[in-house]
Amino acid sequence: MKKNLKDYNIDDLKEIFVALDEKAYRAEQVFNWIYKENVTNIDDMTNLSLDLREKLNNEFSLHNFNISKKLESKDGTKKYLFDLLDGNAIETVLMEYKHGFSICVSSQIGCKMGCKFCASTGIPFIRNLTPGEIVEQILAVERDTGIKISNIVFMGIGEPLDNYDNVIKAIRIINNPKGLNIGARHISISTSGIVPNIYRLAEENIQCTLSISLHSADNKKRSEMMPVNNAYNIGELIKACKDYINMTNRRISFEYALAKDDNDNLDDAKKLVKLLKGMLCHVNLIPINKIENGKYSKSTNENIIRFRDFLNDNGIVATIRRELGSDIDAACGQLRRQNLK
Ligand code: SAH
Repeated sequence: MKKNLKDYNIDDLKEIFVALDEKAYRAEQVFNWIYKENVTNIDDMTNLSLDLREKLNNEFSLHNFNISKKLESKDGTKKYLFDLLDGNAIETVLMEYKHGFSICVSSQIGCKMGCKFCASTGIPFIRNLTPGEIVEQILAVERDTGIKISNIVFMGIGEPLDNYDNVIKAIRIINNPKGLNIGARHISISTSGIVPNIYRLAEENIQCTLSISLHSADNKKRSEMMPVNNAYNIGELIKACKDYINMTNRRISFEYALAKDDNDNLDDAKKLVKLLKGMLCHVNLIPINKIENGKYSKSTNENIIRFRDFLNDNGIVATIRRELGSDIDAACGQLRRQNLK
């Protein structure tokens, strides 16, 4: 298979062009065609000589995705199933908020984390996505809709911190003013809590938002929901979060999916307050989406509001996440490769 031009940031492209005996500024031209013009063909890069286009075509391609399925929710949310070049498929979700369009990207084909409440569990892990396959999710949606995406969340299929290098590379392309030019503050990485890579991320000097999928302040309950807690328990995770905040001065966002009669009572809220007290953080409460044959089901509205109010009354800023796309299986935790269903 030919190499994907979307796997490279501008400096890598410069090296490629120099190796091809071409001027380094060609890299900027190609980058511009890909990220500003969103062309799908090297032959459309008309300020490159025919000769150079042919040289590039011999070794590289743009690895555009095909849309194999597109579903639209009542609330306007769109879910895409994309075909990758090797026959695999991934899902990407586009949501509209007051402040603009947000896209939920996948980072892996399948996931190894095994969270019990998540639909991506139960499909086999196949491989990491490449940087080019991560950025192509944004480009393909922009081509399809003609809109400019302003926010990216790494909350689709996969664990972004388990595909660390490719995710960071994709973020640098997304963030590059000559690339997609989306500010790091508009990019969120969500992790189930891979502690060593939280430290690596702190040192990257990228101003993106870190979201931690916490879901319980109790080790026993959290381990039951999320096997990763057996490797990195709540104590280690929170220590890493505090260090991350100290190193970056960035506020952390904690995700907490409320499951009926499991992690949604006042005792759970009290433990959470004790755990997070004094931290520069925000809690995002997500009404859990029940998956097929799943043991966890959605809390009652009453319990969700009680939980939120208890946190807010005790000095922890908490909001309830508006649910988008649940009617097309595009809400949190509902993504899986549809073709395997
Ligand atoms: N692996 C990463 C990102 C993917 S999941 C992570 O764990 O953070 C994105 C978010 O959706 C996470 O907070 C995850 O815990 C949450 N989630 C997964 N399944 C869910 C479900 N069924 N209902 C509500 N939220 C869910």
